[in-house]
Amino acid sequence: MALRREPHVLVVGGSDPSGGAGIARDIETISSIGARTCIAVTALTVQTHEAVMEIHHLQPRLVADQMCAALQANEVAAVKIGMLATAEIIVAVAAVLRESPQVPAILDPVLASTSGRALLEADAIAIMKRDLMPLCRLVTPNLIELALLVGAEHAVDEDGAVRQGRKLLAAAETHALLIKGGHASGPRSTDILLRSDQEPIRFDTPRLAISMRGTGCMLASAIAAHLANASPLEDSVRKGKGFVFEKLKKNAAT
Ligand code: PLP
Repeated sequence: MALRREPHVLVVGGSDPSGGAGIARDIETISSIGARTCIAVTALTVQTHEAVMEIHHLQPRLVADQMCAALQANEVAAVKIGMLATAEIIVAVAAVLRESPQVPAILDPVLASTSGRALLEADAIAIMKRDLMPLCRLVTPNLIELALLVGAEHAVDEDGAVRQGRKLLAAAETHALLIKGGHASGPRSTDILLRSDQEPIRFDTPRLAISMRGTGCMLASAIAAHLANASPLEDSVRKGKGFVFEKLKKNAAT
């Protein structure tokens, strides 16, 4: 069977018909960084930029089969995981990832939409920590997701976020976290790369006075695209953060 040899990012996630988040955002981002995309859809949503009206999960077997087809057809050099919807889908995705341990996986632990609708069933959080996070090269929670993942109150400062991050690294046996500070306040937007055996590394940009949907999708996709193009993790994070900052700046100017 013909194998496409250019580096591909396999995107595993939900569709958002508004194009604000989900797979459409991922493809846009990966393509503008210069990698190819292949996809495995986990859920169809019906949503606008303001509200999520409907969510339809796919059968876990179908999600796994899509991933296997994408991996068979292409040179997949990174996997980006977004909305997973249910515990059963998480188990299916983890089973496929276990068969390709050489491919780095980036998990954006999508729990809810900005409008407040749950995008992952509550009982699935423990399964995500147990089955999926240990298989991922990087997990990218924002401060709200980090607090929910460790079962704590939202951290109020950077030290508190690092403490929660260390707790999650230990509990989920994951390799690295990128704690996103976009939901914090202050003049700078700081993300923190945390690995269990290393000092935290800060990535800092000025905070722009605008918000935009899908920035979490963009950041994880941009990091995955740079990893697929053979950049090391820290460089990929720096370039990914720069990409999102430029997008936000452009959005503010239009
Ligand atoms: N819908 C899908 C399919 C997503 O993957 C995500 C986030 O990753 C969202 C909605 C939430 O995006 P936002 O918080 O920008 O509404």
